[in-house]
Amino acid sequence: VVLLIPSLISKMIALRILRFEGGSISIQGRNVVFMPTDVLVRMHAELEEAGLVDPDQILFRLGRYQTETGSKRYLDARKDIARSMGSVSMTGDPALERGREVLKFTGWGDTRIESIQEGGRKITLRTIGSPIAKAYLDTRGKSGKPVCHYLRGLLLGVVESVHGPGYSVREVSCKACGTSDECIFELVRGD
Ligand SMILES: [Zn+2]
Repeated sequence: VVLLIPSLISKMIALRILRFEGGSISIQGRNVVFMPTDVLVRMHAELEEAGLVDPDQILFRLGRYQTETGSKRYLDARKDIARSMGSVSMTGDPALERGREVLKFTGWGDTRIESIQEGGRKITLRTIGSPIAKAYLDTRGKSGKPVCHYLRGLLLGVVESVHGPGYSVREVSCKACGTSDECIFELVRGD
């Protein structure tokens, strides 16, 4: 496991996906920062305490914004990405596969497609290692309801970039509830 981590970073640097420059970090041309995951949980708690807004919805919308705006970078670079990808067995699409890899690399867990039904109208995704669920369990203990709102938004943004808009997404099982080790997300496109 220790050996795998430097090799993944080396690959990202060699492909110029990950760049470090004068105190800035960029991934696929977009500036990023490293932020502790418990800050996101705290952000949700702060919004809740302020009592003015729907905290679940705000974090969900921020997550969706991240991938809704970011996916274009991957889809536009599909041809270049295809040349550097060994295999796209997981999703069948080099851009999507690279996006999946970057989400995993940046700590958003390992998301896999559980099923695609009715020609893409219903998609089920399964995430192992949601950082939000882990931070929630570590700082607040078990939750009575799913907590991965930001991640839910990230996944919706990716799916809508590929399949088009009109989906709703629900986290039907969350690691933070203590009943499963994984988080499961159901995306359904309305008519
Ligand atoms: Zn979750």
